[in-house]
Amino acid sequence: YLKKPLSVLLLLVSYGMANAQTKNNAKVESLLQKMTLEEKVGQMAQITLDVIGAGNDRYTSTEPFSLDQQAMEKALIRYKLGSVLNTSNNRARTPQVWYEIISKIQQTAMKGTKNGIPVLYGIDAIHGETYTAGATMFPQQIGQAATFNRSLVRKGAEITAYETRASSIPWAFSPLLDLGADPRFPRQWESFGEDPYLVSQMGVQAVKGLEGENNDVANPYHVASSIKHFLGYQVPVSGKDRTPAFISDQALREYHLPSFRAAIQAGAKTIMINSGIINGVPVHANYNLLTKLLKEELGFKGLAVTDWGDIENLYKRDHVAKDNKDAVRIAINAGIDMSMVAYNYEPFCDDLIALVKEGKVKESRIDDAVRRILLVKYDLDLFNKPTTNPKDYPKFGSKEFELASYQAAAESITLLKNTDQTLPLNKSMKILVTGPNANSMRTLNGAWTYSWQGEKVEEFAAKYNTIVKALELKAGKQNVTYVPGVSYKMDGRYFEEYADQLDAAIAAAKEADVVVLCLGENSYTETPGNLSDLYLSDLQTELAQKLAATGKKIILVLNEGRPRIISKFEQKMSAVVQSYLPGNFGGDAIADVLLGTVNPSGKLPYTYPQFPNALFTYYHKPSESRSTTEGVYNYDADYNPQYVFGFGLSYTTFKYSPVKLSTATLKKGETLTVSADVTNTGKVAGKESVLLFTSDLVATLVSPDVKRLRGFEKIDLKAGETKTVTFKITADDLGFINPEGQKITEDGDFTIQIADQKINFTYNQ
Ligand code: BGC
Repeated sequence: YLKKPLSVLLLLVSYGMANAQTKNNAKVESLLQKMTLEEKVGQMAQITLDVIGAGNDRYTSTEPFSLDQQAMEKALIRYKLGSVLNTSNNRARTPQVWYEIISKIQQTAMKGTKNGIPVLYGIDAIHGETYTAGATMFPQQIGQAATFNRSLVRKGAEITAYETRASSIPWAFSPLLDLGADPRFPRQWESFGEDPYLVSQMGVQAVKGLEGENNDVANPYHVASSIKHFLGYQVPVSGKDRTPAFISDQALREYHLPSFRAAIQAGAKTIMINSGIINGVPVHANYNLLTKLLKEELGFKGLAVTDWGDIENLYKRDHVAKDNKDAVRIAINAGIDMSMVAYNYEPFCDDLIALVKEGKVKESRIDDAVRRILLVKYDLDLFNKPTTNPKDYPKFGSKEFELASYQAAAESITLLKNTDQTLPLNKSMKILVTGPNANSMRTLNGAWTYSWQGEKVEEFAAKYNTIVKALELKAGKQNVTYVPGVSYKMDGRYFEEYADQLDAAIAAAKEADVVVLCLGENSYTETPGNLSDLYLSDLQTELAQKLAATGKKIILVLNEGRPRIISKFEQKMSAVVQSYLPGNFGGDAIADVLLGTVNPSGKLPYTYPQFPNALFTYYHKPSESRSTTEGVYNYDADYNPQYVFGFGLSYTTFKYSPVKLSTATLKKGETLTVSADVTNTGKVAGKESVLLFTSDLVATLVSPDVKRLRGFEKIDLKAGETKTVTFKITADDLGFINPEGQKITEDGDFTIQIADQKINFTYNQ
C-alpha cells in the first residue's frame, strides 16, 4: 500500500466514512431511546411551507414572505413535525431570504422541543435549484441524457447541490429515475429517456453529483438526493399522470428497476414513491414493492417519503382504504417512512398514534422509519449546522456555473435532419425567426423553473437570451427579423395558442433567405401537462405548412418536453434541430449550432414517433409491430419512427472500423473486450457518442433482434483524427429477467453493434 498513496488515501477516506456512519448510527439509537411516541410520529410528517406561512406567498403576490408564528409553533412544537417542503404556490426567493426562513424554522423546532431535532427541509431542485432566484438552470434531464456525456450530468448535479445549500436547503427531490418510455406522459422530459441503461448511468452521476462521491452529505456543498418515483411511474395505460399502469413483474424488473438499483448501490440517501397504481395496487399500499423489494432485497437503508398527499389518496382517490386512519395504517405498514402530507398533518399524526396504541401498527415499524429519518439528519450534520449561510457560497450564480449550463445545452442539441447541408447558416443571410418558441425563456426552460409550472420564468430569466435574441447578437440585428406567427397565451398555463401575425410571418418569409421556425410546447408538468393528442398543435402545423409553401428553406427548431408528432410537415423542412428544454443558455446554444460555432453532438434519448398509433421504444419486440406479419402491412400501426433512438447528425462525418473482440466465445466470469476505431473523416472537429448495442439472437423470452444499449462513450475528434473506443462486456450485461424474476444469461449467439458495424460472438457457460 505504501507504494500506492492513492489507495491509502481512498482507504482512509472510506474508513473515515464508515466510522462516521457508525457514529451516526449510535447517535440515532441514543436519541431514539429518549423520544416519546408523539415525537417519533411527528418526525414522520412533512408539511408544505404554506401551512406555516402567513398566506401571502402566492406566486402572484409581490409581498415579502413571512412566517405565521402561531401556525409554526403548532406544527413544529406541539406536533413536533420533522420535515417541511417547498410548495407549488411558492415563487423563487433569493438565497438570503431562504436563509432567513429556514433559520426561523430551525430555531423554532430546535429551541422549542425537548430533544431539539432539526427540521429536514426538502425542495424540488430539478434542473438546478428551482425555487431560488439567480440559480443556474441547466437543460432538463431529457436534454442532459441527449449529451451522452456523464461528466456534464455530474457537474450539473454538483452545481445544483452547491446552489441548493447556498439557499440553506439540504435535501433535493431529484434525480428522476423513471423510464421515459411513453411520449404521451407529461413528465417524459424530467427523465433521462427511454433506455434503462442510459437512465441508470446518468442517474448514478446525478446522485453522486448531489451527494458527493462517497455520499458525504455532511459536506456543506452536498445535499441528500431523493431518487424518484419508485417504481414504474411513467407508463400508465392512458398516458396521463397518476393513472393506473399494468406492468408485469418481469417488465418491472427488466426495465424499471435497474436505475433504482444502481442509484441505491451508489448510496442514494432517500427515495420518493410513485403516486400511481400498478396492477390495481396503489404503490403507496404495496408491501411487496416497498418492503420486500426495496428494503429487503435491494437493501435500501435510507428514507422512503411519499409523493404529494399520497396517503390521503388511498382513501380519497383509490378507495383501498375506508378512511384516513385506514390509509395511514396501510401505507406505514407497507413501508412508508415519511408522509408528504402537504396540508392536513393533524389527522396523520393523531391516527398514527392511535394505530400504534391499538397495536395495528407496531412500534418497531415506527422506530424503523424514525431511525431512517434521523440518520439522514445526522448524516447531513443538521444537528450542528441546521442552516448554511449564503455568504459561504461565493460561486452561486457565477460565470463558471453558467458556462457549465451552456456546455450541457450545447452538447444536448440534436441535429435530426440537414438536407443539402442547409446548416450551418451563413452569417450574412437574412433570417426570419418565427414560431411560439422563438422568443421565450419559459419554453426554453420548461417547468420546475423559478416556480412549479414555470409561469414566472420570464420575470426571473430576463437577462438570458431567447433564440431570437441570441441570433440577433451572433448574426447581427440587421440580419434577423422576428415575427411570432403563433404565440402561447401568457396568462393561460398550458397549451392555449393564438395566431399572432401569422400572415405577416408568411409575408416576411418571402423576403428572407432562410426561415428559423421555432415550434414545440409551452412549459408544463404533471397533470396540467396531460394531452389528448400527440400531434403538434393545429396552429403550429398550419404555420409550418404555410411557410413551406413559400418555397423557402425552413429550419425547424424543436423546443419541446416530449416528441410531438411532426409527420404532417417534416418532409417539407430542410433541417430539423431538437433542443429539448435546454435551460437558460438554450438560446445561445441553439444559435451557436445554427451558425456553426458549435458542432452538434446530441443524440436522441428516446424514439421519435411518426404516428400516434405506433409509440414503440427502440427495444420493442418485432412481434409487437404489425408490419412483420406476412401479408399484413399496416403502415400507420407499424414501428416506423420519425427518428430512431440514438440518432443525431453532425457537421462532420465519422467512420467506424470493424468491431474487434478479445474472444469469439465468452465464458462465465470472463470479460469480453470490444473495441472500434472511430475516425473523423470530415473537415471540422466534432464530438461523437459511441453507442454499443447487443442482441440475443435466440432467447426463451426476449425475441430475436431486440437491441439493447449496453455501453456508451463520448469522444472528441479533430478533423482527420482517429480514436479507439473500448468497452468491457460481461455475461451479466447480456442477461435478461426471466418470468420468475431472476436475471439469467442463456448460452447462444449474440450480435454486438456499434454504429453501422456488427459482429457476432457466442456465450457458452
Ligand atoms: C411530484 C414530485 C415532487 C413533489 C413535491 C409531486 O407532485 O410528483 O415529483 O417532488 O410533488 O413537490
